[in-house]
Amino acid sequence: MDSDVEGDLPRFAFSGRGAVRRVDRSSQEAAMYEVLRQIKAGVGGGIIKLGERHVCRFCGNTDPRRFRQRAHTFPEALGNHWVISRDECDDCNAKFSKYEDALVKAVGIILTVGGEKGKGHSSRRQTGRTGSASTVRHLRDADGNRRISTRLRGDGSSVRLAWQRDVLTIRHSVAPEKFVPRYAYKALTKMAYALLPDEELANYGQTRTWLLDVNDSEDFPVLEVALSFTLLGNAPPLAVGTLLRRSDPLAPIPHILFLLSIGSLCFQIDLRSDHLEDHLPPIPIGQTVEGWRIGCATNSGPQPEPYVLTYSKPSILNWSSKTPRLQPVEELLFHKCMRTTAAEFELVMRDEPWLEDSGDDADVPG
Ligand SMILES: [Zn+2]
Repeated sequence: MDSDVEGDLPRFAFSGRGAVRRVDRSSQEAAMYEVLRQIKAGVGGGIIKLGERHVCRFCGNTDPRRFRQRAHTFPEALGNHWVISRDECDDCNAKFSKYEDALVKAVGIILTVGGEKGKGHSSRRQTGRTGSASTVRHLRDADGNRRISTRLRGDGSSVRLAWQRDVLTIRHSVAPEKFVPRYAYKALTKMAYALLPDEELANYGQTRTWLLDVNDSEDFPVLEVALSFTLLGNAPPLAVGTLLRRSDPLAPIPHILFLLSIGSLCFQIDLRSDHLEDHLPPIPIGQTVEGWRIGCATNSGPQPEPYVLTYSKPSILNWSSKTPRLQPVEELLFHKCMRTTAAEFELVMRDEPWLEDSGDDADVPG
């Protein structure tokens, strides 16, 4: 039996000159890090060009003929239409596309439901596969509000329904797509490196070498990524990249953190320098995650004042593996209130078994 379920997603008006106005940190961490550099872009805000023209900051290439491509600082497929790097040559751009492809694959299901405008300014994805014959589709009503439609194709093995009071929940299994975590991590590292001010480049020579070596043989047991979400299914058209530098060089925390808020997604990594973390003991997983909020100025809509995006509690992922792993989202939940038209998405992340393994020293026989 087939059935359709439609609903309205949480409203997000972002029209006119919607430049990102402010980015806040939670006060708790405010003392530990200060903003080293921040690039804010969004719909209506124009193109931002970074770097010195025709001097590749990654490989040193200065041949103008090798700068024909437009290099996006943050992946276009994640929704960056505004920030480009003039100091990334075509060779490096080609190399890094492998990293970006992995990152996009890792969050593919979020892009499918997200409503981002992908590469080539194509329209929103009309349908998205969610691991079954069922689909998720974006609609717009006469007022331009985003509506969502899910279609169930009688595929009970991968779509389950549940009622709780007035809320219908549809659980979609997500297709078991694989990605190479280390490539995806390198995509984030490349973006962070692209934002580094000149004064910091000397501290990141090994990072640069590592980025240029596509199939590196470094033995990293953990490459930690914190991933959080906002407004799933109604992605805000913005891209904000932030480098944070620790206020106290002696503090037992990483020298620089990188955060990327793009569409519905927020990624965070620490950018380990060549030697500035030498005094640190191993830092437990998840200990350096920052809480950030992004404010967006809008000219119209129900909230003309800065609209603050609230992100979910970050999921901590280990993206050190050089072999393909399942992407991190296990299930996509669609909640629909049957008394009103309200609806929203929720993601269920896969268990990360390595998180439970850590700190298990008590079991070591002695
Ligand atoms: Zn280059």
